[in-house]
Amino acid sequence: MKLSTQAVQVGLNWDGRTGAVTVPVYQTATFKHPGLGQSTGYDYTRSGNPTRKVLEDGIAALDGGVSGFAYSSGMAAIANLLLLFRKGDHLIVTEDLYGGTYRLFEQIFSHYDLSFTYVDTSVLSEVEKAIRPETKGLFVESLTNPLLKAADVKALSALCAARDLLCIVDNTFLTPYLQRPLGLGADIAIYSATKYLAGHNDTVAGLVVVKDPALAEKVYFLQNSVGAVLGPQDSWLVIRGMKTLGVRLDRQQENAQKIAEWLQAHPKVRKVHYPGLPDHPGHQLLRETARGFGAMVSFEVVDPSLVERLLLKTELISFAESLGGVETLITFPEVQTHADILPEIRARLGINNVLLRLSVGIEDVDDLINDLAQAFEE
Ligand SMILES: *Cc1c(COP(=O)(O)O)cnc(C)c1O
Repeated sequence: MKLSTQAVQVGLNWDGRTGAVTVPVYQTATFKHPGLGQSTGYDYTRSGNPTRKVLEDGIAALDGGVSGFAYSSGMAAIANLLLLFRKGDHLIVTEDLYGGTYRLFEQIFSHYDLSFTYVDTSVLSEVEKAIRPETKGLFVESLTNPLLKAADVKALSALCAARDLLCIVDNTFLTPYLQRPLGLGADIAIYSATKYLAGHNDTVAGLVVVKDPALAEKVYFLQNSVGAVLGPQDSWLVIRGMKTLGVRLDRQQENAQKIAEWLQAHPKVRKVHYPGLPDHPGHQLLRETARGFGAMVSFEVVDPSLVERLLLKTELISFAESLGGVETLITFPEVQTHADILPEIRARLGINNVLLRLSVGIEDVDDLINDLAQAFEE
């Protein structure tokens, strides 16, 4: 079965008793025991809830893993996974990382004696060079934010397997529809489901998928012990969003490709980062390992004064953080999403005062291009 079909099947006809086509929202904190020492399989919603379980099983199926876990946000998911590590452990991490993940690692987990080295994970030898005796894990964004560098997840997973490192892939930008990290050899896939999986800019959620049953048990223990679980209503919203993942992403990618090409030809744009462009460094790799190039486009304008104009003059396109929803959004990474990254690191990465990021939605692409065109004008 193709993934877009599989996504529609999540929770479908789950409730045989009433025949409800969609899964019910089990808005309950606790469950009555049928007898002493007996359980329906559900005891308390932090430990397990039927609506959340449908989502967790659904994402595990889409990603080809044994178990899925739903959290109250992408950050809660990442924080939970970091608890798999112990005092003194070292992790290698993608350098142009989501700003919130960088803040979590540097300003919180570093106080618990975990250490992190940030490298360009699109270059395998950089990762290899950073391995130390105490290195226990690799945390990689398969497609980075905001510069859209593509990591060779297959090669990185093989390196991790050879050196006994846990390979964690933040696959938020690609989703299982475009690339399945576990199939390429990774141990864990994580998603900010807030983005493409839920897809409507209306809910905050995180998902984790694990390949190995013993590891899944550890993650379940952490999820239940720490308790940052996704509520039943939000689980339902993510399930609903996931059903249209395929059609949304097909349209979003098609729009992104056209917008990237239009921007590339614009005299007030000096650089476009989109892996669908043949001269993008990740183009060939994604052609071989993914079903597409995603729908995030970053670009540099020729003059800093254009930044504010574009952010405020666009009408269909909203100036807002986040990404992956049906609505097209524009943001200014240097100030909005990557402010917690040290200025010298931002400068080295190319997150500068002329870089803008678009999360391309499902609108008619001509309307989006017209909106950008009028915003560029004096
Ligand atoms: C948004 C995002 C996160 C954090 O997820 P939240 O749902 O906002 O907590 C992590 N990684 C990436 C790549 C993201 O885009």
